[in-house]
Amino acid sequence: MENFAIVIHGGAGTILRDSMSPELEKQYKAKLSESVKAGYDILSKGGTALDAVAASIKVLEDSPLFNAGKGSVFNHEGKNEMDASIMDGKTLMAGAVAGARAIRNPIDGARVVMEKSPHVMFSGEGADTFAREQGLKMEEPAYFYDEKRWQQLQQIKDQEKITLDHSSGTPGWVHPKDAEFLHAPDDSIGAGKKFGTVGCAALDKKGNLAAGTSTGGMTNKKWGRVGDSPIIGSGTYANNKTCAVSCTGHGEYFIRNVVAYDVSALMEYKGMTLEQATHEVVMNKLKPQGGEGGLIAIDTKGNIAMPFNTAGMYRACMNKDGKSEVKIYKE
Ligand code: ASP
Repeated sequence: MENFAIVIHGGAGTILRDSMSPELEKQYKAKLSESVKAGYDILSKGGTALDAVAASIKVLEDSPLFNAGKGSVFNHEGKNEMDASIMDGKTLMAGAVAGARAIRNPIDGARVVMEKSPHVMFSGEGADTFAREQGLKMEEPAYFYDEKRWQQLQQIKDQEKITLDHSSGTPGWVHPKDAEFLHAPDDSIGAGKKFGTVGCAALDKKGNLAAGTSTGGMTNKKWGRVGDSPIIGSGTYANNKTCAVSCTGHGEYFIRNVVAYDVSALMEYKGMTLEQATHEVVMNKLKPQGGEGGLIAIDTKGNIAMPFNTAGMYRACMNKDGKSEVKIYKE
């Protein structure tokens, strides 16, 4: 049987067993299982890694539990602005949308940019217009609305705060000046942070890798802030020579550290294994800087890594034998 495997995440952060009800935990785990299974079913029938990645991400985008698609967080103006990207490890083709407001499934928006345009990224109205022209399903703002997210915005709207949290309601990170930002001890940036971005990386039976990431970004974000998720090389990267990667966490750090590409580069140029490369980036580079988050990654042999330097990360994976793992906390 040809090798194939898939791995997904639904965001990293201060996800503690004590602050999670058994009912909510069940809901998260069920949705993660549904998502990983959606991609697995495609791969097991000989489908492409790209199709599997898009299918798994769509399940999470359609669920208000995660900060992507339906249930995305609100920006300062009370609007949803969504970012997504996808990359094909075989061709190194990539597509992304940033600040999209009406695409029902932003990962599909990223995919049409990759497949139907000569470009890599469309932003704002242009992203929505292109997706509409390509016949993608569009939605009114009411579709994306989630009461819990709206209340999170009301709590912090009038303060100079932006939260990376999609669900705790705890005002999170106070934007510091860059120097303080780099050296901020964990406590100074608030408790209860969760990064609700979703992502997937897959290896198909033909040996092709793909990765994708989708997010609503950060609550109360202003001025068209764009995180790492739609940035190829930062939030998402795939290369058949090495691995496929999707990240979640404090986007500014992931952009500055070019995280997803760095994992691939450490494998390509330094000969590290997937395990070593992902550990190096998440634990030895991001963590000392205060760059909270994690990533999921898969290599050409179907090895999987899911490191994170936060308390938890929603994650799941499945290999060719149908063996699956669904996890939230540190084990
Ligand atoms: N990385 C995302 C961003 O900074 C947030 C997340 O992972 O939830 O926009």
